[in-house]
Order: sequence, then structure tokens, then C-alpha cells
Amino acid sequence: MTTIVMKFGGTSVATTERIQLVAKKIEKQVLAGNQIVVVVSAMGKATDDLVAMAEQISSVPSKREMDVLLTTGEQVTISLLTMALHNLSIDAQSFTGWQAGILTESVPSNARIEAVNTEAIEGALQHNRVAVVAGFQGIDEEGNITTLGRGGSDTTAVAIATALKASLCEIYTDVDGVYTSDPRHVKQARKLQEITYDEMLELANLGAGVLHPRSVEFAKNHQMPMTVRSSYEDVEGTLLKEEVTMEKNLVVRGIAFEKNIVRMTVHYNDNYLGTLANIFTTLAKKSY
Ligand code: ASP
Ligand code: MG
Repeated sequence: MTTIVMKFGGTSVATTERIQLVAKKIEKQVLAGNQIVVVVSAMGKATDDLVAMAEQISSVPSKREMDVLLTTGEQVTISLLTMALHNLSIDAQSFTGWQAGILTESVPSNARIEAVNTEAIEGALQHNRVAVVAGFQGIDEEGNITTLGRGGSDTTAVAIATALKASLCEIYTDVDGVYTSDPRHVKQARKLQEITYDEMLELANLGAGVLHPRSVEFAKNHQMPMTVRSSYEDVEGTLLKEEVTMEKNLVVRGIAFEKNIVRMTVHYNDNYLGTLANIFTTLAKKSY
């Protein structure tokens, strides 16, 4: 049996109607005889709304409590989507990040996944049950709830796909693939059939919002084939892999751009005794 991880982002599950459409998409894969793990984000702008609520209470909320708050967004989606699957007579069960065995380091708001204990998910799959997992969240050694950084559900999906040795990790989103530039801003942008992990990593790190950069890094490290495709239209998306077969000699494959970036120039005089490492260590400690 083929195991496929299907990930749906916030816009794809923004309303209960859309959640029902997502359930239909999953049904197709189940009827095709595949074992399915689904990873979902919070509905629409739910995470932003939760952040805004916290800001009304505190300008410097505890990072630990922010993680407890923000993980509720994904928990809403997993339960509703699982109910929608039940309506289609598909056996399905929801899992929070910690129920799914996502173990992370103890860095609130920006934790990296250290291991995935797949026992619970595998138990579901063995019963031909769809496992519906909350993205973006995990648990640290001390049992604290953690989050993986904004957009982190993509990374949850790839981590689970890797741990299960799935055949494919599909990222369903509001665009139908990776484009040579952001199609919302550049009319002539073209969809790419394939892109290498390294090229995608460059684009993601430079601000192409389509994928969480760490998910691409993860996929590259474990050679996990990954596609970016549309939640709405049944068209082929873009395949991320190690080598692209077509247009090998392209020098530039895409252009990304980013707004709202901070450029910092640090001046210090010659007799400054510290090293640049001090500056980066300070920034890292604050998880910037
Ligand atoms: N819900 C989280 C966010 O909005 C995680 C995600 O969507 O991947 O950043
Ligand atoms: Mg995203």
C-alpha cells in the first residue's frame, strides 16, 4: 500500500464548506487505495486572530503561553475535518501534534522537530483509518506544548512523511504550484513542473511564501519527494526533487522578493573586544 501525506494550508480550510471540499479530496485518495495521513493548518486567519487577542492582553506575552494559545487553531481544524470525513463514511481520527508523537526541542515559538514517534499514526493506518494531524505543533522533553514557527505545518507534513517512509508529501495550497515569481505581482510568471530542493530552498528563504523553508530543508535531507499543488483545481503541481530533468541548463529558475524586512548595520569601534558571534548569539537567544 502506498502511504501519502496530504497537507492543507489555512486558506484551503478557511470555512466549513472548504473543509468539506478537502474531505472530498481525501476521499478520492482513500478510494484509490492509498494510506493517508493529513496535516492541516488553522482555519484561514485564525492564528493571526489569536495573536491579536494575546496582544490585547500583553505586549510581551509569555512565549510558552503563546504556544498553548496558537496550537488551539490547528486543533479546531483536525476535529472538524475528521467529522467531515466521517460524514463521507471514511474512518478517520484526529491527532494533536503531541498525540502524533511530534517531539521538539525546548524553544518556544520556533522549535525544531527532533523526532517523530509514529506509533499512534501507524496504529491508525493499520486499521485503514485516515490520520488527521494538527500541523505546526509538538511537545518538548518536559511536556510543554511547542510550535514550529509561523507557516510550520509544511514542516510537520514533511517530518511525518519522512518518519513513515511515505512515497510522497503533497502540499495543497491556494496556488497551483511554484512559479518563476509571485503570480500575484508578476503577470508573466510561469508555473514550474519541477524544481530542485536547493533552488526551492533559495526561493523559500528569500521570501517566496509558498513553503516553510525548513520543510524544504527537511525534504532535501531525507530525499522526500514533495509536490506543491492546488486545493481547488485538479491540476498537476510542481514536483520538488534532487535533480530536474528538464531545462537543466537554466541559470535562474525563479525570483522571490520580500517586504517588511529589517536591515541592521552594527557599528563598533576597533577596540571592541567581543566578536560578531556575540551579536548573533544574542539574536539567536531571542529566537530572531
Ligand atoms: N497556523 C500557523 C500559521 O498561521 C501554521 C501554518 O499555517 O503552517 O503560521
Ligand atoms: Mg503556508
